[in-house]
Amino acid sequence: MKAPITSKLPDVGTTIFTIMSQLAEDCKAINLSQGFPSFEPPAELIDRIDHYLRSGANQYAPMPGVPTLRRAIADKTAHVQGRALDPDTEITVCTGATEGLFSTIQAIVRPGDEVVVFDPAYDSYEPAVTLAGGRTRHVPLHISNDGFDFSIDWQRLEDALNDKTRLVVINFPHNPTGAILSNDDLQQLAALLRTTSAYLLSDEVYEHIVFDGEPHVSALSIDELWERSFVVSSFGKTYHATGWKVGYCMAPPELTAEFRKVHQFTTFAVNTPVQHALADFLHGSPAFHERLPAFYQEKRDLFCRLLEDSRFRCHPARSTFFQIVDYGDISDEDDVALAKRWTEEIGVASIPLSVFCEQPFTGTRLRFCFAKDDSTLEAACEKLCRL
Ligand code: PMP
Ligand code: GLN
Repeated sequence: MKAPITSKLPDVGTTIFTIMSQLAEDCKAINLSQGFPSFEPPAELIDRIDHYLRSGANQYAPMPGVPTLRRAIADKTAHVQGRALDPDTEITVCTGATEGLFSTIQAIVRPGDEVVVFDPAYDSYEPAVTLAGGRTRHVPLHISNDGFDFSIDWQRLEDALNDKTRLVVINFPHNPTGAILSNDDLQQLAALLRTTSAYLLSDEVYEHIVFDGEPHVSALSIDELWERSFVVSSFGKTYHATGWKVGYCMAPPELTAEFRKVHQFTTFAVNTPVQHALADFLHGSPAFHERLPAFYQEKRDLFCRLLEDSRFRCHPARSTFFQIVDYGDISDEDDVALAKRWTEEIGVASIPLSVFCEQPFTGTRLRFCFAKDDSTLEAACEKLCRL
């Protein structure tokens, strides 16, 4: 007789991204749900992959990542964040940011430990904490009176920290709200963590997509935070290549050593030709990422402008390629049910916000991805304006 399965993740179902993208496909709806661009990666980058595929770079890469790519990441980090990293001991290439987040959490969190996340929280943190035997503490972000500005509530964070706190996870630029942190915010975080032994996991995959001239302030830029940090990023967002699943984790040597103990058994090594190609591209086109703010800001502005004649309310996102809209003037239906119904009936798929929250404090809001061709955004908004 087979033993019954006792799930290690009894409360986890299929991710909302898979559910909504599948529904969009089934209904032939315009898919503004799961976040991926409709644009191709730079042609020169694809050419370099082609080159390496045809010139024998097809076997296992070194476990921490191809040395030229780690060097290129170090050069970029020195230039952009002002921190000189040792590629041998402080940078590990991983299978998308997802693996970087997972391996960090497995490396650090022990049974009984607590991990703080801020709600709405990207959905991959909590399952990883649960698998490590830890407990996730959800601290809601503070929401401004108009309902669109999200920020850390320092008092609530302070109240959540205790001697069991092993890790604090931050994600700025923030998916799904587009919130960003200032230098003062990070100084405040450093001051709060000073009296704890907690590590920091900073998910910065949208580091280059920040609007209105505002800077991205990385955990890399504050010495006191860096000492206790794992900073995770991804090439998927920056090079319009979410399907390649190549990211990296930066951490001081002792932390990187622990990270690699897990990384080597989670995935061992990452796609070799793509790593070589990324190294060439980073060196050959080091300023590519500088075009992203203007590029995506135009998309954001178009999307918001097209919704001006609708009954949705929105404030332009401060970062990422997601726009939050409030549908409270159209319906008071639950956001999950509504996102599904509008995918089926209106033909536009979005992501409900409540799935990212322990408490459903986000009300009548949906997230739309605007990383799409103008014609796709126009077609989607035409449908949304009929509501
Ligand atoms: N963190 C956040 C906040 C994300 O939005 C995503 C995916 N878009 C990831 C991590 C995962 O990145 P990757 O696709 O490189 O695994
Ligand atoms: N990060 C993407 C989003 O927020 C989705 C990634 C995924 O599908 N796992 O839409």
